[in-house]
Amino acid sequence: MVTGGASPLRAAATAAGGPLEDFHKVRTMNFPRTVLAGHGVLEELPKICQTLGFVGPGAVITGPTTQAIAGDRVGHLLESSGLKVRIIPAGDATLDEVARIASEVEQQGIRFLVGVGGGSKIDLAKTVAARQRIPFISVPTSAAHDGISSPRASLKGSREAFSIEAAVPEAIVADTSVLVRAPYRYLAAGCADVISNVTAVLDWQLAHRLRNEDFASSSAALAEYAAHGILDHARDIRPGKEESVWIAIRPIIMSGIAMSMAGSSRPSSGSEHLFAHALERIAPGRALHGEVVGLGTIMMAYLHNADWKSLRVSLKEIGAPTTAHEANVERDEVLTALVNAHTLRPERYTILGDNGLSREAAERLASQTEVI
Ligand SMILES: [Zn+2]
Repeated sequence: MVTGGASPLRAAATAAGGPLEDFHKVRTMNFPRTVLAGHGVLEELPKICQTLGFVGPGAVITGPTTQAIAGDRVGHLLESSGLKVRIIPAGDATLDEVARIASEVEQQGIRFLVGVGGGSKIDLAKTVAARQRIPFISVPTSAAHDGISSPRASLKGSREAFSIEAAVPEAIVADTSVLVRAPYRYLAAGCADVISNVTAVLDWQLAHRLRNEDFASSSAALAEYAAHGILDHARDIRPGKEESVWIAIRPIIMSGIAMSMAGSSRPSSGSEHLFAHALERIAPGRALHGEVVGLGTIMMAYLHNADWKSLRVSLKEIGAPTTAHEANVERDEVLTALVNAHTLRPERYTILGDNGLSREAAERLASQTEVI
C-alpha cells in the first residue's frame, strides 16, 4: 500500500528491499565513430568526411615534415572531393600555439580539423577542436604513443609538459603505408606505451582495493587486451615491415580508446607513467615518451611481483630500450625519477604508495631489473 508522503516508486522499492540509496555516479564515454587502419586508407578520407557530415571549410593541422609526408596529400584529397580546406602549419604543442591556431580557426570560420602528424600535431588538433567545439580527425604519421586515439593531450608548458582533457577524434585514419615511413624507433616506443597498460591496470586494481577507487573492469580489460595484442606478437614487430605497423597500430588505437571508456587515463597510465614523467622533467627530450615508459614498466612490474622478465624480453624483441643507457639517460637520473615519481600526481594511487621509494630501494630495483 502507498501511504502518505512517500512516492509510489519509493514505496515499491521500500517494499522490495529497503529504502533507495543515494546514487550519484555518472560516467561519460565518448568514442571515435570510425577507425580505419591499413594500407592506403588515406584515400578514404573524403568518404569519411562525407559520412560524418562534415562541411567546409576545414583545416589540416600539420608540421613541416609531416606536411610533405601526408599533410599536403590530405589537403588535395579533401579539396578534390569539393571541400574547402586550409593547411595550417603548426609548431610545438604549447598553449601559445593552441591559442594561435584557435584564433585562426575562429577567424576563418573553420568547421572541422584534421590533425596530420606524430604526437604534437594531433595534440594541437584535439585541443583546438575541444576549445572551438568542432570535430576533428586523427591522421597519424607515426605511432609513438596511444595519444593518436585518446581524449587527452600532452602540452609543453614554459617549464614542463602537462596533460589536459581534449576532444576524442571523430575518426582515426591510420595508413600503414604512411606509418611505415616513420623511423622504426617511434613504432617501438608506441608498442612500449601499450605494454605499460599491464602495470597501469595493476596499479588501478591496487587503488581500488586500498582506496576504494572506482574500477571499470571493461576499460581495464580492453587496455590489457591491447597490451597482449603487442606482447603476443612481439617477435613479429620489426623494422621496415608494413606488417609490423599493421600488428601494432590496432592495439595502440585500442589503448587510447580504453581511456575514453574509463573517462580517465587510469587504464593506460600508472606508476610506470609517473616514473616516465618524473624522468622527462629531469632529462627532457632525451628519449621518446614510450621508451622511458618501457623502462618504468619493467621496474613497476617487479614491484608488483608480476612477470617483469617476460615484459623485458618482449620489449627487447620489439627493439625498445630496456636499459638507461639504451634510452640515453643517466643512472642517476633514473634513480632520482624513481624517488620522485610518487609526488607527481598524489591523487593517483599506485604501487609507489604515498611515500615512494627510498634511494636505496630505487637503486636495488633498477639494478636487479638491469635498467642500470
Ligand atoms: Zn603513454
